[in-house]
Amino acid sequence: MSTSPTPDPALTSTIADRAARVRDRIAEAAHRGGRDPGAVTLVAVTKTRPLETVRAAVAAGLRDLGENRVQELVEKSDAMPGESAGGAVRWHLIGSLQRNKARDAAARADLFHALDSLRLANALDKWAAEAGRVLPVLVQVNISDEDAKHGLAPDAAPDLLAAVGERPNLRLVGLMGMAAIAEDEGDLDRVVRPAFQRLRRLYDDAPAPLSILSMGMSGDFGVAVEEGATHVRVGTALFGPR
Ligand SMILES: *Cc1c(COP(=O)(O)O)cnc(C)c1O
Repeated sequence: MSTSPTPDPALTSTIADRAARVRDRIAEAAHRGGRDPGAVTLVAVTKTRPLETVRAAVAAGLRDLGENRVQELVEKSDAMPGESAGGAVRWHLIGSLQRNKARDAAARADLFHALDSLRLANALDKWAAEAGRVLPVLVQVNISDEDAKHGLAPDAAPDLLAAVGERPNLRLVGLMGMAAIAEDEGDLDRVVRPAFQRLRRLYDDAPAPLSILSMGMSGDFGVAVEEGATHVRVGTALFGPR
Protein backbone atom coordinates (compact mmCIF):
# COMPACT_ATOMS: atom_id res chain seq x y z
CA MET A 1 0.00 0.00 0.00
CA SER A 2 1.19 3.52 -0.72
CA THR A 3 2.19 5.80 2.13
CA SER A 4 -0.60 7.98 3.50
CA PRO A 5 -0.72 11.53 2.20
CA THR A 6 -0.27 14.12 4.92
CA PRO A 7 -3.68 15.32 6.15
CA ASP A 8 -4.56 18.93 5.50
CA PRO A 9 -3.51 20.96 8.61
CA ALA A 10 -6.35 23.51 8.43
CA LEU A 11 -8.99 20.82 8.06
CA THR A 12 -7.38 18.81 10.85
CA SER A 13 -7.48 21.75 13.23
CA THR A 14 -11.11 22.60 12.39
CA ILE A 15 -12.12 19.00 13.09
CA ALA A 16 -10.01 18.90 16.27
CA ASP A 17 -11.80 22.02 17.57
CA ARG A 18 -15.22 20.58 16.83
CA ALA A 19 -14.25 17.24 18.37
CA ALA A 20 -13.12 19.04 21.53
CA ARG A 21 -16.53 20.79 21.71
CA VAL A 22 -18.37 17.52 21.22
CA ARG A 23 -16.23 15.80 23.86
CA ASP A 24 -16.92 18.66 26.31
CA ARG A 25 -20.64 18.26 25.73
CA ILE A 26 -20.33 14.49 26.23
CA ALA A 27 -18.48 15.08 29.51
CA GLU A 28 -21.14 17.55 30.72
CA ALA A 29 -23.92 15.12 29.86
CA ALA A 30 -22.06 12.26 31.55
CA HIS A 31 -21.77 14.32 34.73
CA ARG A 32 -25.47 15.20 34.61
CA GLY A 33 -26.22 11.49 34.26
CA GLY A 34 -23.81 10.51 37.04
CA ARG A 35 -21.61 8.63 34.59
CA ASP A 36 -17.92 8.41 33.71
CA PRO A 37 -17.26 10.42 30.52
CA GLY A 38 -14.50 7.94 29.71
CA ALA A 39 -17.19 5.28 29.26
CA VAL A 40 -18.52 7.03 26.14
CA THR A 41 -16.95 6.39 22.73
CA LEU A 42 -17.33 9.05 20.07
CA VAL A 43 -17.94 7.44 16.70
CA ALA A 44 -17.18 10.00 14.00
CA VAL A 45 -19.66 9.45 11.19
CA THR A 46 -17.70 10.03 7.98
CA LYS A 47 -20.38 8.89 5.51
CA THR A 48 -20.40 10.95 2.30
CA ARG A 49 -17.14 12.71 3.31
CA PRO A 50 -14.06 12.38 1.12
CA LEU A 51 -11.01 10.40 2.19
CA GLU A 52 -9.23 13.67 2.88
CA THR A 53 -11.72 14.36 5.67
CA VAL A 54 -11.27 10.86 7.07
CA ARG A 55 -7.48 11.33 7.19
CA ALA A 56 -7.88 14.72 8.88
CA ALA A 57 -10.32 13.22 11.41
CA VAL A 58 -7.82 10.51 12.30
CA ALA A 59 -5.03 13.12 12.59
CA ALA A 60 -7.36 15.05 14.92
CA GLY A 61 -7.46 12.03 17.20
CA LEU A 62 -10.70 10.38 16.11
CA ARG A 63 -10.22 6.66 15.86
CA ASP A 64 -13.75 5.26 15.67
CA LEU A 65 -15.26 5.96 12.25
CA GLY A 66 -18.82 5.28 11.11
CA GLU A 67 -20.17 4.61 7.62
CA ASN A 68 -23.71 3.70 6.62
CA ARG A 69 -22.98 2.14 3.22
CA VAL A 70 -20.88 -0.97 2.74
CA GLN A 71 -19.35 0.13 -0.54
CA GLU A 72 -18.09 3.35 1.00
CA LEU A 73 -16.73 1.49 4.00
CA VAL A 74 -14.86 -0.88 1.68
CA GLU A 75 -13.31 1.98 -0.29
CA LYS A 76 -12.27 3.93 2.77
CA SER A 77 -10.96 0.90 4.62
CA ASP A 78 -8.85 0.03 1.56
CA ALA A 79 -7.03 3.30 2.14
CA MET A 80 -7.14 3.13 5.91
CA PRO A 81 -7.49 -0.42 7.27
CA GLY A 82 -9.55 -1.08 10.36
CA GLU A 83 -8.37 -2.93 13.43
CA SER A 84 -9.64 -6.30 12.20
CA ALA A 85 -7.21 -5.87 9.29
CA GLY A 86 -4.37 -4.81 11.59
CA GLY A 87 -5.02 -1.07 11.19
CA ALA A 88 -5.25 1.65 13.79
CA VAL A 89 -8.84 2.80 13.25
CA ARG A 90 -12.13 1.06 13.94
CA TRP A 91 -14.76 1.00 11.19
CA HIS A 92 -18.34 0.96 12.41
CA LEU A 93 -20.98 -0.02 9.88
CA ILE A 94 -23.99 1.85 11.22
CA GLY A 95 -26.48 1.63 8.35
CA SER A 96 -28.99 -1.05 7.50
CA LEU A 97 -27.65 -3.79 5.31
CA GLN A 98 -29.10 -5.81 2.46
CA ARG A 99 -28.24 -9.47 2.55
CA ASN A 100 -26.46 -9.30 -0.79
CA LYS A 101 -23.93 -6.95 0.83
CA ALA A 102 -23.38 -9.20 3.83
CA ARG A 103 -20.15 -10.67 2.45
CA ASP A 104 -18.27 -7.36 2.29
CA ALA A 105 -19.75 -6.24 5.58
CA ALA A 106 -18.66 -9.43 7.34
CA ALA A 107 -15.17 -9.11 5.92
CA ARG A 108 -14.62 -5.39 6.54
CA ALA A 109 -16.65 -3.96 9.38
CA ASP A 110 -14.96 -3.90 12.77
CA LEU A 111 -18.40 -3.55 14.34
CA PHE A 112 -21.86 -3.80 12.76
CA HIS A 113 -24.57 -1.74 14.49
CA ALA A 114 -27.67 -2.52 12.46
CA LEU A 115 -28.56 -6.20 12.70
CA ASP A 116 -32.33 -6.42 12.47
CA SER A 117 -33.29 -9.89 11.27
CA LEU A 118 -32.41 -13.53 11.72
CA ARG A 119 -31.88 -13.96 7.98
CA LEU A 120 -29.30 -11.22 7.99
CA ALA A 121 -27.68 -12.74 11.08
CA ASN A 122 -27.39 -16.08 9.29
CA ALA A 123 -25.85 -14.48 6.20
CA LEU A 124 -23.33 -12.50 8.26
CA ASP A 125 -22.46 -15.56 10.33
CA LYS A 126 -21.77 -17.55 7.17
CA TRP A 127 -19.60 -14.86 5.57
CA ALA A 128 -17.74 -14.10 8.78
CA ALA A 129 -16.85 -17.81 8.98
CA GLU A 130 -15.66 -17.64 5.37
CA ALA A 131 -13.49 -14.62 6.25
CA GLY A 132 -12.11 -16.51 9.24
CA ARG A 133 -13.34 -14.04 11.81
CA VAL A 134 -15.93 -13.35 14.46
CA LEU A 135 -17.96 -10.23 13.70
CA PRO A 136 -19.10 -8.10 16.65
CA VAL A 137 -22.73 -7.05 16.13
CA LEU A 138 -25.37 -4.84 17.70
CA VAL A 139 -29.06 -5.48 17.23
CA GLN A 140 -30.89 -2.38 15.97
CA VAL A 141 -34.19 -1.79 17.69
CA ASN A 142 -36.89 0.54 16.41
CA ILE A 143 -37.41 2.85 19.36
CA SER A 144 -39.06 5.75 17.56
CA ASP A 145 -42.82 5.76 17.53
CA GLU A 146 -42.99 6.25 13.78
CA ASP A 147 -42.94 3.18 11.56
CA ALA A 148 -39.27 3.42 10.85
CA LYS A 149 -38.09 1.34 7.92
CA HIS A 150 -35.29 -0.22 9.91
CA GLY A 151 -34.81 -1.83 13.24
CA LEU A 152 -36.59 -4.60 14.99
CA ALA A 153 -39.74 -4.07 17.03
CA PRO A 154 -38.78 -3.95 20.73
CA ASP A 155 -40.97 -6.99 21.45
CA ALA A 156 -39.02 -9.05 18.94
CA ALA A 157 -35.61 -8.09 20.28
CA PRO A 158 -35.18 -10.76 22.99
CA ASP A 159 -35.71 -13.61 20.52
CA LEU A 160 -33.22 -12.21 18.03
CA LEU A 161 -30.71 -11.55 20.80
CA ALA A 162 -30.97 -15.15 21.93
CA ALA A 163 -30.61 -16.46 18.37
CA VAL A 164 -27.64 -14.24 17.54
CA GLY A 165 -25.92 -15.37 20.72
CA GLU A 166 -25.87 -18.89 19.26
CA ARG A 167 -24.14 -17.98 15.99
CA PRO A 168 -20.50 -19.05 16.27
CA ASN A 169 -19.09 -16.34 14.02
CA LEU A 170 -21.07 -13.45 15.44
CA ARG A 171 -20.41 -11.86 18.80
CA LEU A 172 -23.40 -10.07 20.22
CA VAL A 173 -22.10 -6.95 21.94
CA GLY A 174 -24.98 -4.52 22.17
CA LEU A 175 -28.00 -2.62 20.98
CA MET A 176 -28.43 0.35 18.66
CA GLY A 177 -31.36 2.70 18.25
CA MET A 178 -32.35 5.97 16.63
CA ALA A 179 -34.89 8.32 18.14
CA ALA A 180 -37.23 10.44 16.04
CA ILE A 181 -35.62 13.73 15.01
CA ALA A 182 -36.26 16.40 17.66
CA GLU A 183 -37.71 19.60 16.20
CA ASP A 184 -37.03 21.59 19.35
CA GLU A 185 -35.78 21.34 22.94
CA GLY A 186 -39.19 20.18 24.13
CA ASP A 187 -39.05 17.14 21.84
CA LEU A 188 -35.80 16.05 23.44
CA ASP A 189 -37.56 15.42 26.73
CA ARG A 190 -40.98 14.49 25.36
CA VAL A 191 -39.98 12.16 22.54
CA VAL A 192 -36.26 11.42 22.42
CA ARG A 193 -35.57 10.72 26.10
CA PRO A 194 -38.32 8.09 26.52
CA ALA A 195 -37.10 6.35 23.35
CA PHE A 196 -33.55 6.15 24.72
CA GLN A 197 -34.87 4.99 28.09
CA ARG A 198 -36.73 2.19 26.33
CA LEU A 199 -33.53 1.03 24.64
CA ARG A 200 -31.65 1.26 27.91
CA ARG A 201 -34.20 -1.03 29.57
CA LEU A 202 -33.84 -3.62 26.80
CA TYR A 203 -30.07 -3.37 27.21
CA ASP A 204 -30.27 -3.90 30.97
CA ASP A 205 -32.69 -6.81 30.57
CA ALA A 206 -30.82 -8.60 27.76
CA PRO A 207 -30.54 -12.39 28.19
CA ALA A 208 -26.73 -12.15 28.22
CA PRO A 209 -24.78 -9.10 29.44
CA LEU A 210 -24.06 -6.52 26.75
CA SER A 211 -21.36 -3.86 26.69
CA ILE A 212 -22.35 -1.44 23.94
CA LEU A 213 -25.38 0.85 23.89
CA SER A 214 -25.20 2.82 20.64
CA MET A 215 -27.55 5.79 20.67
CA GLY A 216 -27.36 9.51 20.04
CA MET A 217 -26.49 11.59 16.96
CA SER A 218 -25.57 15.26 16.47
CA GLY A 219 -29.01 16.49 17.54
CA ASP A 220 -29.50 14.33 20.61
CA PHE A 221 -26.24 12.82 21.85
CA GLY A 222 -26.40 14.76 25.15
CA VAL A 223 -29.69 13.12 26.09
CA ALA A 224 -28.35 9.75 24.93
CA VAL A 225 -25.29 10.06 27.19
CA GLU A 226 -27.48 11.08 30.13
CA GLU A 227 -29.52 7.95 29.50
CA GLY A 228 -26.55 5.58 29.33
CA ALA A 229 -25.15 5.54 25.78
CA THR A 230 -21.69 3.96 25.54
CA HIS A 231 -21.33 4.95 21.87
CA VAL A 232 -22.64 8.10 20.21
CA ARG A 233 -22.62 8.39 16.40
CA VAL A 234 -21.88 11.96 15.42
CA GLY A 235 -21.45 13.35 11.90
CA THR A 236 -22.74 16.88 11.38
CA ALA A 237 -21.45 18.29 14.67
CA LEU A 238 -17.93 17.23 13.67
CA PHE A 239 -17.87 17.77 9.92
CA GLY A 240 -20.62 20.29 9.18
CA PRO A 241 -23.80 19.77 7.16
CA ARG A 242 -23.82 17.01 4.58
C1 LIG B 1 -25.80 9.68 9.52
C2 LIG B 1 -25.98 8.86 10.73
C3 LIG B 1 -25.59 9.34 11.99
C4 LIG B 1 -24.99 10.72 12.21
O1 LIG B 1 -25.91 11.72 11.98
P1 LIG B 1 -25.60 13.27 12.33
O2 LIG B 1 -26.93 13.85 12.55
O3 LIG B 1 -24.89 13.81 11.15
O4 LIG B 1 -24.75 13.29 13.54
C5 LIG B 1 -25.76 8.51 13.08
N1 LIG B 1 -26.30 7.28 12.96
C6 LIG B 1 -26.69 6.78 11.78
C7 LIG B 1 -27.27 5.42 11.72
C8 LIG B 1 -26.55 7.55 10.62
O5 LIG B 1 -26.94 7.05 9.45
